[in-house]
Amino acid sequence: MPENFLEKPLPRQNVYVAKGDSPYDNTRNVLSRMDLSFLKNKKVLLKPNIGRIAPKGKGITTDPMVVAAAIDVFREKNADVSVGESPIVGVDTMAAFHSSGIESIAKKRNCKLIDLNMGKFIKIPAPDGIAIREFKVCHQIFEYDFIVSIPVMKMHMHTCVSLSIKNMKGCLWRRSKVDLHMLPPVEGIDERPINIAIADMAGVLRPQLAIIDGTVGMEGLGPSAGTAKSLGVIVAGFDSFAADAVACKLMGTSAEEVPHLRIGAERNYGVIDITRLSITPDRWEDWTSPFSPPPENLSIEFPNIKVHDRNSCSACQSTLLLFLKRYRTKILDYFPQDTIINFAIGKGHNNIPEKTICIGNCTDGIRKNRTFIKGCPPVASEIMCGITGKVSVDFLDGKSETPDD
Ligand code: SF4
Repeated sequence: MPENFLEKPLPRQNVYVAKGDSPYDNTRNVLSRMDLSFLKNKKVLLKPNIGRIAPKGKGITTDPMVVAAAIDVFREKNADVSVGESPIVGVDTMAAFHSSGIESIAKKRNCKLIDLNMGKFIKIPAPDGIAIREFKVCHQIFEYDFIVSIPVMKMHMHTCVSLSIKNMKGCLWRRSKVDLHMLPPVEGIDERPINIAIADMAGVLRPQLAIIDGTVGMEGLGPSAGTAKSLGVIVAGFDSFAADAVACKLMGTSAEEVPHLRIGAERNYGVIDITRLSITPDRWEDWTSPFSPPPENLSIEFPNIKVHDRNSCSACQSTLLLFLKRYRTKILDYFPQDTIINFAIGKGHNNIPEKTICIGNCTDGIRKNRTFIKGCPPVASEIMCGITGKVSVDFLDGKSETPDD
């Protein structure tokens, strides 16, 4: 098991930033300023964000050249390097590696790609956990001495941002990832349970190094339905909370505003107070380029749509968002002009309008006489088929529409 998975590390306060046209050079630049000599003969697992099937450059998956540089640098330190991921439910890991471009760079380097979904899980207790007291973790990661989280710099509609701490959710075993989105409110704490759960996860599943890929990030409706944003920066640090805090600043926000980072820092998992960090180069803040936050109210984004959301998890929220973003104008022909189109997600609804479209298995109880789209979650093309009555629609492949991470 990696050394600091179950103990609180001493915060290391250096964070390194680089900016330029080449993600490969930027990554080498930040890593060249860190002493990695202790990795000689160690087994290193690189954990990029390849949670879904998407081509590079869309702000959805980690740039392959960032991963390529990390492989090269760690090998130069005589480490044994692999790349692993457990994507969101329904996505084939190797297909995701392929579409991201990481399969290609790994093959060229004869570097092992690991489908973390294969094999068993190991239950890890979370002694500090409040929302979750035990996690099911993909067993392969315990074969490694050193875990490197390599996320994409993203806004996230449920967790504010998705950076190196949140990216470790891709080490949770298969469907257990969804558990984090299905938690009841935590008594006495006025915070979304998912944010507390990510902080709980950080107590036991914290990377020993963060390399944050801001080559092309995602603003707005992250993690998958937002807008790609080119920034051309890489941030790295041994203290992943500190690296995330610097990335937050570059994105125009503050780690104190991000609940899972604030809660984790309060538990002493890492440092997010920028004044306590040594960040190089001195003028790194000149590279700040504010990311648009996710819209707080979806009806602002989709004026003729009303979403009835009760106790849903973010998988259904994301699938609906992705659907609306892609196909909203296409469904208008199927409804009377100037009508409000109602969607329901989650369970426990009462008094929803008659013609509400029910999305996901949780709405099974209110499906009678309504359009019901089964799935947990369904994908966008299935919603389109349900509304149009067509057996299939000529849109993107369903797997590439699978939401959330
Ligand atoms: S149906 Fe939707 S809301 Fe219900 S558990 Fe599945 S993904 Fe979550």
